[in-house]
Amino acid sequence: MQVMVLRNEVIINVKDDMVMEKYQKHGINPLLISMASGQDIASVSPRPTVAMLPGKYPKLVYKHIKELNSEFAENIFRLTCGKCGKNGDYDLGTLAIPVITGEGTRATDKFQAVGYFRCKHCNAAGDWNLSPTIQTMLAGKLAAAVIKQTIETEASSDIVLGQVLIDNDFTPRWGSDAEDYFLEKLGKNPENAYLWNRLGNIYYKGKRPELAVTAYEQALARDAGQVESMFSLGRILADCGYLETAAEYLRQAVAFAHQYNLLTAHDLRELIVSALTILLAIYNKTDHEIDMLPTPNELAIAQFANSEIAATVQLDFEINPGRCETLYPLAEVYMGARRDELPPAERKTPIPRRKVAWPLPGKVNKQKPPKKNKNKKR
Ligand SMILES: [Zn+2]
Repeated sequence: MQVMVLRNEVIINVKDDMVMEKYQKHGINPLLISMASGQDIASVSPRPTVAMLPGKYPKLVYKHIKELNSEFAENIFRLTCGKCGKNGDYDLGTLAIPVITGEGTRATDKFQAVGYFRCKHCNAAGDWNLSPTIQTMLAGKLAAAVIKQTIETEASSDIVLGQVLIDNDFTPRWGSDAEDYFLEKLGKNPENAYLWNRLGNIYYKGKRPELAVTAYEQALARDAGQVESMFSLGRILADCGYLETAAEYLRQAVAFAHQYNLLTAHDLRELIVSALTILLAIYNKTDHEIDMLPTPNELAIAQFANSEIAATVQLDFEINPGRCETLYPLAEVYMGARRDELPPAERKTPIPRRKVAWPLPGKVNKQKPPKKNKNKKR
């Protein structure tokens, strides 16, 4: 009997290995596993699999990688690895080329690939050679994109004119260069949740959502108020169909937004509107079973002021699912004090229906004095 059990285990392991082999299609940086899990790099497999990624969601999200990536461009080209010399077909994702390429420089020397991929044979990244045939093909494709974009105002999505710039300073040639940039920064500052969030964005745009969620989960483990990571996790999980969990993250993003300072007021409002748009869709899709708006309890956890919680409960907005601008006044309520940073012309004053609920009369009176204070300072 025991032998039988052992045999079964062996069979199961073989099956797992087969699944893992399939996972290795895209390649994962051992350094990411080491930094996210705290394991010494020497003890991490040189060719990690999705199963080795720490966190709740990488494996779940990996199952949906095709649907998740359908919004991104596909540019498959044969490249030769500079490390091992072997060829492979890789999806370079969105390609960016500078608007003006200098005389004598070929566009193929200047392009940037946003896709994240590593060598299928040796798991190296960033050292790629393009054969002359591929260079010609690519040059043709890029030239076509340039002509298309100068004629049409609508940008073609698989090739964009412009430059990918990180921190106004660094121009990554490949998605893996952008990863290196953030992993190096995280090496010096591993607890920085914002850096983890930005690394997640690099993976997401690089068509690697399973790596993106790994990074977003790391961000949230370090800062429970990392609103951008909450939103991104929620959006990805919603796209995978995990509506309940997605809605929890999205409601959290809305509830915590008022204390998030790493986005401008304008961008923060955009994020809240996007979160509310997805939440509204989930709410309708589930016949109102999943809450759209943060519950008073969720708001309290996010230290949303009591008076403002009361205000949100009493609000009765007219929301038109087809017009996202109807969500702006609601989004501004959830911005809390950061709402005041919006330029007056941009601000959509909340329209209270029935009883006046917002702004609270008490608040309005309290807001009047600052004018006098300003004069006093001078
Ligand atoms: Zn290689």
